[in-house]
Formats: sequence, structure tokens, C-alpha cells
Amino acid sequence: MAKLTPMMQQYRAIKERYKDCILFFRLGDFYEMFFEDAELASRELEIALTARDCGLEERAPMCGVPYHSAHTYLAKLIAKGYKVAICEQMEDPAMAKGLVKRDVTRVVTPGTVIDPTMLEDKKNNFLMCIYCRQTYFGIAVVDITTGEFFTTQITWGSSMRKLLDETARFKPSEIITNAELTKKPEYKSYFEDYLGIRASILPDQVFEPAFCDEKILSLFKENPLKDLELAKCATGALLEYIESTQKTDLTHIEAIQPYKIEQYMIIDSASRRNLEITETMRDARKKGSLLWVLDKTSTAMGGRMLRRWLEQPLMDVDEIQMRLDAVEELKNGFMVRNELMDLLRGVYDIERLAGKLVFGTINARDLVSLKISLSKLPYIREMVAGLTCGLNAAMAERLDPLEDIVELIERAIADDPPLSVKEGGIIKEGYHEEVDRLRKATTEGKNWIAEMEARERERTGIKSLKIRYNENFGYYIEVTKANIGQVPEDYVRKQTLVNCERFTTEALAELEKTILGAEKKVVQLEYELFCQLRDAISSHVKRLKATAHCIAELDALCSLAEVADRNNYVKPQVYQGGVIEIQDGRHPVVEKMLSDNSFVPNDTWLDMEDNRIAIITGPNMAGKSTYMRQVALIVLMAQAGSFVPASYARIGLVDRIFTRVGASDDLASGQSTFMVEMSEVANILSNATPNSLLILDEIGRGTSTHDGLSIAWAVIEYINDRARLGSRTLFATHYHELTELEDKLHGIKNYCVSVRKKGDDIIFLRKISRGGADRSYGVEVAKLAGIPDPVIQRARVILEELDEADINKNPKRKKEKPVEGQLDLFASSSLTKAERDVLDEIRALDPSNLTPLDALNKLYSLQQKL
Ligand code: ADP
Repeated sequence: MAKLTPMMQQYRAIKERYKDCILFFRLGDFYEMFFEDAELASRELEIALTARDCGLEERAPMCGVPYHSAHTYLAKLIAKGYKVAICEQMEDPAMAKGLVKRDVTRVVTPGTVIDPTMLEDKKNNFLMCIYCRQTYFGIAVVDITTGEFFTTQITWGSSMRKLLDETARFKPSEIITNAELTKKPEYKSYFEDYLGIRASILPDQVFEPAFCDEKILSLFKENPLKDLELAKCATGALLEYIESTQKTDLTHIEAIQPYKIEQYMIIDSASRRNLEITETMRDARKKGSLLWVLDKTSTAMGGRMLRRWLEQPLMDVDEIQMRLDAVEELKNGFMVRNELMDLLRGVYDIERLAGKLVFGTINARDLVSLKISLSKLPYIREMVAGLTCGLNAAMAERLDPLEDIVELIERAIADDPPLSVKEGGIIKEGYHEEVDRLRKATTEGKNWIAEMEARERERTGIKSLKIRYNENFGYYIEVTKANIGQVPEDYVRKQTLVNCERFTTEALAELEKTILGAEKKVVQLEYELFCQLRDAISSHVKRLKATAHCIAELDALCSLAEVADRNNYVKPQVYQGGVIEIQDGRHPVVEKMLSDNSFVPNDTWLDMEDNRIAIITGPNMAGKSTYMRQVALIVLMAQAGSFVPASYARIGLVDRIFTRVGASDDLASGQSTFMVEMSEVANILSNATPNSLLILDEIGRGTSTHDGLSIAWAVIEYINDRARLGSRTLFATHYHELTELEDKLHGIKNYCVSVRKKGDDIIFLRKISRGGADRSYGVEVAKLAGIPDPVIQRARVILEELDEADINKNPKRKKEKPVEGQLDLFASSSLTKAERDVLDEIRALDPSNLTPLDALNKLYSLQQKL
């Protein structure tokens, strides 16, 4: 270290404090990186790696990015998951004695980004802190751009599962935690492999209860988490982390909002993906998702609110009713809604502007945007004052028109100010006397210069004489070489160029002093006034945020009303009960994809009595998955407060939606598709409740027919058993044998998606009706898909032969139903010894005494025997 140059010693000392970050070290107009940071950054950013003398024998590797375009490089590094510490010059290098003081002013991490160009408008950017204590967890989540802060704790049940579900709900861009979490066996596969987030570990002392109490109380008057120790520890640590990375006060986090996990419908991560709530499964895009259909919001705040409503459907009938009533009123009030949406379109992101105010990154243009946005409020308020239903009713009182702030900005800030707050031109004329006086001096000064130029031309007779200005030399008189002979005695030479000479005079120097002095002063004064104004408005940030929240809600409600109206949705009845009744239900997204209005509506009836499980058969492509997802989406929409695509809907509250769809998506690497499928089924069986809704598509498809059928059969029996689950379930299957369950067990009903056979072809009718399908029509579907004719012909022959052989081998099958509790297939004499052994082993099992993991292991070992 001693051998290093003083600046490099400074660099090393700062880097030592920010070991886990890439250090952007300000040197003049560049941010430079050195040593290992330089090597890493040059690789990641594809910029040239150079070197610089550092006092050591070998030069230090170095690379740099220009200060004015640094944010694009920063964005790239953050997107790749790095943290960047920004180290600034803390004094003017021109004034500094010796080494310029430098320090880190901010650490940028994926979860603490505030630059709008790095954020998505209609999406929150969440930073999550997980505190793990043995098997239980505290969770705290913040969006620092909007100041929203949520916290909860998990102290019972299968807590890891719940933690994963909460993580899937918030989709944080960064996770911080204590070391204990990273030692859990699930940590790597879920957090690192599946979510692609490596959590940063904070030292244990920031999670200490006493430390956290103090942290919370230093920011808020009271501690809402006194009795929630785990939530408190996560919250304290998170606050500490934001403070140490942002280095500003946290005033815009106005409240910590504790919530209970049971407050919202639980949807695990696989089901969220399957249902394509906010993004599609295939390419993770919004287009094609439920949000895409429902989002007609006009503001970014409304967009984020609506997204959140869909991500966390409610469990409280009254709360749901408040939203539904408000949507209904706006749906019926076409004129009001139209006008409101028009007004809302002129409202910028007040929430994030409030964040910028607090972080001090707001500029004058932002303030003008804020003014324009706020100036719509009185009109919006007038419009909502006439509304009376649900959430709308209180809107007018909650909506603070903030006229004082509008007036302040209007008076102080120019209407079209420049981006930079340090170059003047931001304060309006008439706001401040001194600014006006200084400005006059500069404009008049310019006239004086023009007058002087004319005078000097006349005096010297040099027509081409010019008085000009540049930053290095100030004002000068320029005379071309050809006219040099006419230059008067009192001209003092300043600079000689190829074609001309530059001079000054005493009078010009005097003028220059007056003008430049005034210009500098006015710029400085304007900046000071701007900062005062910013701080003055900052003190109202709570009012701004409360209004932003109202606007977001109103916007989300208008959006739902608009979509309900345009798409012909109906208001669902949501109640605390067991029936899910849907008449003429449609899939909200698929119906939008079909251009010709050709979507075929279908009815649904599920209850907690005779109609708990619907077994749905029908050929591939008939519409089974579409139908099942449509039911899940309608339930989800209803509980989020949205109208639904149906002619009538009554929804008995659902506490969780589970879906297991298809066996094709192999997401978790390293596991077989079948293993993934089974672990998802295991999750469903151990976490579903009688109030859950289960969507199971083709369970058991990932293995051999006999295995698959047995598993599917056993899964249905287990779900149907009210002592165990009794959840309402839609179960699509290829195994026609499963339709036999309707006669054997109370609570199961068969349905099929009908097709009509026309010659060798089939026509999909897309209509769900009672009863089981007679056959699979696989060959017909293959033909539709374009399999060449000879293959189709040959398949038909083979199929016939197989069917024939099946009947000969097992004549009972067609004629007589098997005895209760025994699958005919199992009775077949064609079973090998190994198969019979496996069956015996299955019969001997006591599933209620098996953990999901044991069950899986068992399954594996059974499969090995076959
Ligand atoms: P399955 O699950 O039976 O194989 P899908 O649900 O995937 O079939 O449906 C196949 C296609 O049929 C869908 O992509 C959709 O375009 C169309 N479809 C499904 N249901 C309907 C319906 N009710 N009305 C119109 N088209 C439908």
C-alpha cells in the first residue's frame, strides 16, 4: 500500500469499504475503475481496458466511462446483478489543496435503482429482506421509488413453501438476508437457480431485535411491529440497508404496512406462471397475459396498482364488494368514466416524482410535470364528488387537490425549464427580485457588447471585426489577418490564430466582468432558490403520496370498468360459501386472441357437496385447458374486484388456487420433468384446503400409462376425501378409465368437451357437457396438425389392431364395470410379477403417514422396479 500513489491509496481505502461493489471512482469527467473492477467491467461493458501508473511496478488495469453517459453503463451492470458504488469528488478540484476529497455518495443495486430510465413505469421495483430464524421467517419489502413498505412473518405451517410463495408474489429484483437462509437446502435451487437472484448476506447484528427497534423508532413515531418480532428484524435490517446504500433520509417511507399472508389469496409460483397473470409462460411478455387484457390504466401509478390487485386477490368479501361496486358505478357512468380517463392521461407518476423529491434528484422539468399533474386534481375531484358507490364514495374527501403546491411551482418555475438545475433559466420572472436584476444585467450586457462591436467597427474601419465569447478566453475582439494593419494602439493581443488575431481592450474587460459576474451569480442564485423550493415541496410528500394513492386506485377502477364495458363482463357475486357457479364463462385472454368472436362460452358448477371434482375428458386441442384456466381466472378476477367474462357468476371465496398444467415445461434444471410434476402435485396435496380451487391437467402424463393412471386415480381419491382435502377441483385427463370414479365416489362428476366426427375428420365444438368422452381422437388431431397421410393411414390400422387385441385380452373391460375399489387394469392377468409386486406395495402404503418427500422417494423406487 505504501508504495501506491496517494490517489491510489485513496482509491484502495474507499474500495476496502465497498468490497462487494464495483467502485465508480470520479476523476474529472470520467468514472474510472481500477484493478479487478476494471477487468470485470471492461469485460461486462465491452469497453477498452487500459492501465495507469499507480506507484507499483506494474501499472494498474483501468477502464472508464464518461460521467455524462455513465447511467447507461450503470444500468447494464445493475441488470447483470452487480452493485455499483458511486464515488464522487467532494470538493471542486480547482479549489482543492492537494488530493481532492472523494467519497461514496450512493450505492446502486438492482433493488435500489431510482433512475427512471432503469425502471418500468407500470411495475414496482421491490427490494426484499428475508430474516430466517430456524424454520420461520420475517419478510420486509420496499419499493424505494414509491416509498411503499410491507412486512409480514411466517411462524407456522410449511413455512419454506409460504416464503417461496411470497417471494413469487413480489418478484423482488434484489434480496438481502441473514446467513441462515442461504444454508437451507431449498435456497440454491429456488432463489439462485429458479429466481436467478443471489441474496446478499447482511451481518447478524443488523437483525438484532434491539437494534431493529431503535432503527424503526428513529424513523417512525411508533413501532407497529412490537409483537411481530420476525417482521421487525427483517424491517430493521432493510431500513439499515437502504440508509447505508442511499445515504439520504428515508422520509418518504411514510408507513410500514404489516400484513397477514392469509389476507390475500395464495397462488404459488408455478400456478402464477401457468395462469399467465401478468406475463406469458413462453416468453414472459405482458402481451397475452390477463394483465394485458385488463390494463387500460392511464397512469403509471394506476398500472402498478392494478398489477398488484391481480397479483394479490382479496379474501375479504366486504373489501371485494367495495371494489366491485365502484367498478359497477364507473361502468354504468360512461360519461364520467370517459372524462376521468381523459384527465388521468395528463397525470404523471406523482408517486415516483415524490420519491425523486426526497432523494433530491428532481429537476425543474419534473416540477413542471408535477404541476401539470396536480393541476388536474380539482377537476378529477369534481368528477368523483358525484360518485357514491364502494371505493368511489370516499374518493373526493381523500383526494387532496394540493392547490398550494401547484401555485408555488407555477409562481417559481419557468414553464419550459432546461434539464440541468445548475445552468440557470429555471426560475420564472417576477418570482425573485435579485434574479430579475441580475438577468437584466446579463441581457443588457449583451446589448452593450453589440453596441461596442458597432462602435469599434466604425472607429477602426474594419467591417469584419467581431466581438465574440468563448469559455477559455472570455470576450475578445477578432480581427482577420488581412486587417491587422488597422488595429488601434489600445488593443491588447490575447491570442494568435492562423487566420486571425484576438484582442481585448480595457473597456471590453470591464464589460466582461460585469456580464460574467451577473451570469454566474444568477445561476448560483437560481440553484439555491430551486433547492429551497424543492425542500419546501418535500415537506408535503405525505400529502402527495396520499393523493397519488387515490389516483392510482381511481385509475385501476376506471380501467376495470372500461374493460368490463368493452368486453361485456358481468359483476360477480362473491360470497363466503362453497359454490362456484359460472354461466357462459369465457377465457378472458383466449377470447381476445380469436379475432372473429368465435369463442364458445361454457358453464361451470362446482360446490363442496356432490360436485367437488369435475373430471374432464376429450381429445387434445378440444379446449380442456382453456376451460379449466378460464374458471381459475374468473375466480381470481372476481376476488381482485374485477367484473368477469360470463353472463352470470357466483363465486364462493377461494383461499388458494393451485394449478398443475402440462408435463412439458421443464423449468428447474437438473430435475426430470416427471419429478417436477410430482413435486408440484406433492405441494398441492400437502397445502390445499377445503376452500382451495385445484386445476389439474394431465397428471401422470410424464410416466408410463400404468404408473400415470394409478397416480392420477390415487390423487383424485385423496383430493375427494373430505377428511383429507375435499377441495373443488377440475381434473382434465386422457385416462378414460378415470371416468369410472363418478359411479364409485360421491362428489365426482364427469364432463367432456364434445367433438363431432365428420367422415375421417373431427370438428371441435368446444362445448363442455356431462359424461365421459368415448375416445381420444388422437389420430384425427394428428391429421389436423399436418402429419402426412400415409402415417395417418398406418396409425389407423395399428389403432384398430390394438383396440382389438385389448378387447380380446380383457373382454371384461367393455362389458362390465370393475368391482369397487379395484381398477380393472390391475386385475389383468397380463401383469408381470414385478408389476404385481409394485401393486402390492402400493396397497400396503398408508399415504396419510407419508411426507411428500417420502412419497416421492417411494414413487421413484417403485418406478425403478418396473
Ligand atoms: P386441450 O387442453 O383440450 O388440448 P386447449 O384448451 O389447449 O385444448 O385448446 C386448444 C385451442 O382451442 C386453444 O388454443 C383455443 O384457440 C381453442 N379453444 C379452446 N377453447 C375454446 C372455446 N371455448 N372457444 C373457441 N376456441 C377455443
